[in-house]
Amino acid sequence: MNALFYAFFNAVETGLRGFPVPCRTGLVTIGSPDRDAPVFLTCNYHLTVLRVKRALQGMNCYLLVANSKGYNVWCGAAGGHFTNHSVVSALNTSGIQDLVDHRRVVLPQLAATGVEGREIKKRTGWTALWGPVYARDIPPYTANAFSKTREMRKVRFPVGQRLEMAVMWAFPFSIIASLLTLLVWPDFLLPVNLILWSVPLLTFLTFPLYSHWLNPQAKRVKKFSSYTVIFDFGKIPLVLWILFLAGLLVFGVLIDHASWEFMLRWGFASLLVILIISIDLMGSTPLYKSGLHEDRMLKVRLDVEKCKGAGFCEQVCPRDCYEVDHRQHTARIPRADLCVQCGACIVQCPFDALQFVSPGGDILTPETIRKHKLNLIGKRLVSV
Ligand code: SF4
Ligand code: SF4
Repeated sequence: MNALFYAFFNAVETGLRGFPVPCRTGLVTIGSPDRDAPVFLTCNYHLTVLRVKRALQGMNCYLLVANSKGYNVWCGAAGGHFTNHSVVSALNTSGIQDLVDHRRVVLPQLAATGVEGREIKKRTGWTALWGPVYARDIPPYTANAFSKTREMRKVRFPVGQRLEMAVMWAFPFSIIASLLTLLVWPDFLLPVNLILWSVPLLTFLTFPLYSHWLNPQAKRVKKFSSYTVIFDFGKIPLVLWILFLAGLLVFGVLIDHASWEFMLRWGFASLLVILIISIDLMGSTPLYKSGLHEDRMLKVRLDVEKCKGAGFCEQVCPRDCYEVDHRQHTARIPRADLCVQCGACIVQCPFDALQFVSPGGDILTPETIRKHKLNLIGKRLVSV
């Protein structure tokens, strides 16, 4: 692929990451694959396909692009767009069965929240292998007999990715806000754009400095989290904005300047600020959803009696919470405080040895989680 073409689409689509950008589904042949060639599968988000194809350059393999309605792997899987059905349909309709002799398909690890390996096996006969988190690790993973190192399993949030998230927020917002500002308050165009770019940039680039405070398992934020969960965090910015407008009106009257124009302009400017700070910026990925949500209070519990040490949990956990002793056939969760409640380990465990437990002691069993799709973001309510 032309480097210039790649750089152009990479830049434009990074700015539009907040929106689904679908591309064609189906089978892509990379190099000259033979009947033993590996089969990889990914979602039909254009930027992902672009990056995966680039990572596979030089290999001889097949790439299946499955329908995720244009969402990326993690958001698609966690949001119910990249599902068992997407994978089954890609395997059954692409003609891949006639091209290879084996029945192994490498799925992206982050799809494990919404795609169940055992369902894929049951419905297609194909064995799902959980590949690395990042596409760039596919070649070494393949060369290593489809075995992941610990580093290949972990989701990190390096500065490059944080920068991408900031651009993803700032770019569409600044376009919409610029158009509105030109209509209402043209002189304010530059300050509006400065605000809309600097808030996300500052928020994401300084993330390591305050990320600990967003961890609901940390003692010092537990109390605050409980309070905001009850209050519903989404309403706090709205209340703040109403209070600001009331204060603005009083201020306007005091300085004898409370005109419609005055109220409209400062009301608009403050609304922009409120909107941007009220967005759960950390919710850009399921992993970094802030601690101020009910489902972030759930804990994963391991039933040691049921655990057979199969290690699926370790293979799919993006936070490296697990340690599996493959000789003793046991698992532990020594880094449970890093859990981001993605639910992947629970839905993939073949022995149903894992469950969520709420702070009040309510138990969400794997059956309940599967039945009500509680592994999907936004549906994981303790009260179900
Ligand atoms: S918890 Fe489940 S997936 Fe993890 S090692 Fe035990 S049996 Fe295997
Ligand atoms: S331990 Fe937590 S972060 Fe890891 S897979 Fe399970 S739910 Fe996800």
